[in-house]
Amino acid sequence: MAERVFHGVSRSKIPWYPTIDYKKCLSCGKCLEFCKHGVFDFEEKQGKRVPFVKNADNCIVYCNSCDAICPSAAISHPSKLEIGKIISELRKRIELRTNR
Ligand code: SF4
Ligand code: SF4
Repeated sequence: MAERVFHGVSRSKIPWYPTIDYKKCLSCGKCLEFCKHGVFDFEEKQGKRVPFVKNADNCIVYCNSCDAICPSAAISHPSKLEIGKIISELRKRIELRTNR
């Protein structure tokens, strides 16, 4: 499968994906139903169905729509500003390598 790239940077190097706070999660399933990119799945843990991030790299960089649909605010994403800095840094490194 072809490597996915975002603004010239390998998607797998960009730490943009949801984090679930299990202390807040209600196991309602809305995140799984809402995200059309297959990021979430559910698993059985101690007799309870709980969501987990199955395909982190499928999360669309800078999309954070599921944060708002979670009824208990259990989903969060990193700061867009911080991720922007990481992407710029990675791009600089790629440019340096290609200009050698
Ligand atoms: S939408 Fe929020 S509360 Fe519902 S399963 Fe997903 S993380 Fe848990
Ligand atoms: S932020 Fe968007 S792409 Fe990422 S998991 Fe949530 S709904 Fe899916």
